[in-house]
Amino acid sequence: MLASPDVTPYLGQLLAFRHDLHANPELKFEEFRTADQVASYLGALGLKVHRGLGGTGLVASLRGNGPQAGQPGRAIGLRADMDALPVAELNQFGHRSQTQGRMHACGHDGHTTMLLGGATLLSRQPDFNGTVHFIFQPGEEGGAGARRMMDDGLFRQFPSEAVFALHNWPALPAGKMGVRVGSIMAAANRFEVRITGKGGHAAQPHTTVDPIPVACTLVTQLQSLVARTVDPIDSAVVTVGRIDSGTTENIIPNQATIYGTCRALRTETIDHLVAGIQRMSEHVAQAHGATAEVIVQTGYPATVNTPREARFMAEVMAESVGADHADGDVLPALTSEDFSFMLQEVPGAYGFIGNGRNGLPGVSLHNAAYDFNDDLLGPGAQFWDRLVRMWFAQDRA
Ligand SMILES: [Zn+2]
Ligand SMILES: [Zn+2]
Repeated sequence: MLASPDVTPYLGQLLAFRHDLHANPELKFEEFRTADQVASYLGALGLKVHRGLGGTGLVASLRGNGPQAGQPGRAIGLRADMDALPVAELNQFGHRSQTQGRMHACGHDGHTTMLLGGATLLSRQPDFNGTVHFIFQPGEEGGAGARRMMDDGLFRQFPSEAVFALHNWPALPAGKMGVRVGSIMAAANRFEVRITGKGGHAAQPHTTVDPIPVACTLVTQLQSLVARTVDPIDSAVVTVGRIDSGTTENIIPNQATIYGTCRALRTETIDHLVAGIQRMSEHVAQAHGATAEVIVQTGYPATVNTPREARFMAEVMAESVGADHADGDVLPALTSEDFSFMLQEVPGAYGFIGNGRNGLPGVSLHNAAYDFNDDLLGPGAQFWDRLVRMWFAQDRA
């Protein structure tokens, strides 16, 4: 039952598909061409395609014809993301982006193609006992496209007993995979602190309340939140990525604004950070006679793998790349991911497929010189095929 079809005959078409997506990147919720390409690929496999979930999202279902395939409730969802980023690509290879300032810099072109590869193998030999929903989502990069598909009825229309997703991971060389039980990616919030003082002449600071030293002090103080108030065994980060203030050297401005992100693997920890940012901003500003207004924008929740599904995914990884290359307790990352919303409703797991080259880590995600490693297309397709066969071969009590 676990024998999978050979992927070799399909590698050429998968490679061409991936390169075409890479050359034609589309930003969140503008994945019109991408969704058309995915829909026509799935249509050619004979699958019925449901479009319009979360805008450009789509789902295709494949019902297995194994001996107990008709059992009610046996269905799983496999998810890939389709959107690109506002990055100007530096690569010069033939399949480089044809759209200025847009790029598949997170490898979602590869995720989409690997899942289509899985759909190809499974539809060639659907001798498994259940139904697979292939979920292609828009807007992962800051758009919460997964949430939008769910709001449009994703799991009401396509009930799934479990959901799975993969992200390519440059820190792991190609040929390695990893997953873990519990949080694998962080909860992330954006924050903005507007410090208001009183402007005036740079030579007469005593007549002003200068917001710039207040902002600088605050940025330094915020670093102590993680270093001094979070358990060293827990994981969290506070980064200020932008400071805005002033116009020229001889004017003390009225306001200074800092922008940052705070992230943690646990909800309690991110709540603790937010409270700390609020407390520190107010009191640091007050200590200098200024005021601070804190605006927090809640981002994606932590991506929390459920134990049974994460262990199962680790087994599939071990079958796929060998036990020595499959890490069932891979290090989590403080990046964030909207698959987290799906995991809040349905048990499941999110794992990594190594995207390095020649045994070494690869170019970082979101870097202008990044590219998805085409060597993963075949193994990725086989991974999805194997996961489905192994899942439905288990007894589910
Ligand atoms: Zn990304
Ligand atoms: Zn990504």
